Amino acid sequence: MALGKKSLLAAVLGLLGLAAQPALSEERAKDLFGAEKLPTATAPQSFGFYSKGCFAGGVAIPMDGPTWQVMRPSRNRRWGHPAMIALIERLSRDADADGWPGLLIGDISQPRGGPMMTGHASHQIGLDADIWLTPMPDRTMTRAQRESMSATLMVDEKTHLVKDALWTPQHTALLKRAASYPEVERILVNPGIKKKLCDTVKGDRSWLRKIRPFWGHDYHFHMRIGCQPGSPDCKGQEATPDDDGCGKPLAWWFTQEPWRPNKNPDAPKARDLMTMANLPKECRAVLDAPGPASAEAATYHGGAVPVAVAAPEPEASPQPATTASGGGDLPSAANAFAATPRMGAPVPRPRPPAK
Ligand SMILES: [Zn+2]
Repeated sequence: MALGKKSLLAAVLGLLGLAAQPALSEERAKDLFGAEKLPTATAPQSFGFYSKGCFAGGVAIPMDGPTWQVMRPSRNRRWGHPAMIALIERLSRDADADGWPGLLIGDISQPRGGPMMTGHASHQIGLDADIWLTPMPDRTMTRAQRESMSATLMVDEKTHLVKDALWTPQHTALLKRAASYPEVERILVNPGIKKKLCDTVKGDRSWLRKIRPFWGHDYHFHMRIGCQPGSPDCKGQEATPDDDGCGKPLAWWFTQEPWRPNKNPDAPKARDLMTMANLPKECRAVLDAPGPASAEAATYHGGAVPVAVAAPEPEASPQPATTASGGGDLPSAANAFAATPRMGAPVPRPRPPAK
């Protein structure tokens, strides 16, 4: 009886041409998430970690606002958790008041997050956003201009130092403003930019703790917020150390070690290997969930968003519970993006792209 049912099922599957398909769990997650055009029409919720997850209930930042413009629109990466989108809009207004004439918005997330076909290990759960270090032009750019306009490279690629002719007090103010929001846990910048801030910021330096050096990030900065309410399956990241990060961990970036060429540049990246089985199981449901009628229907036009402050402010006199750092020689800065997911296959360390 049972056997008969089974062979009937096999025959039906055979007729439908499904039998030879690989299990869904073996499909590459980046292909599935990269194909999604719209978010889920469900409550906002992040699943998993920044570099290994997905999210539901995403909203898009409008292509234009009074104080921002979305760049590279063809990538369709202007989606995020509503708290992220609301914060970007707030930053754009505050920065404008500070003297930065509007934000150029780079990649946020795909409509349902997940790994991407190109670029970015993280940006998977709607809580990461890239913002250009180029001020917004005083005109509304065409689609074509947004695709082709070059960003300004702020750092000399040989010395890894900021190009002094390009850096302005407004750049510093923009990063300080972004770091000022309690929900922002870390901001990734090129080591040269971190060094510039370490060398020049006077007075309140407490915000430098959130500014983390990392490869790339020489024409944009990366703003990351903590897990938000309603996301019990969102995995947060360790808080940054309490100090300004201008000492030994930063010095490491100005040695040869971080810049040695990748010995195995053609090795697959984590995103190339990730299958659905590597992501939180809820990500399958995220792929299957119904979407809104249109992108416009899921575009954020203001309104209150409950926000969590995931990173507690340090105590007045921070004192580590234990003096053992346990970090050995590895600078904490190297963990800015945190653990690469375990894939059962060797995963290369992040390196600057081959020239
Ligand atoms: Zn980024």
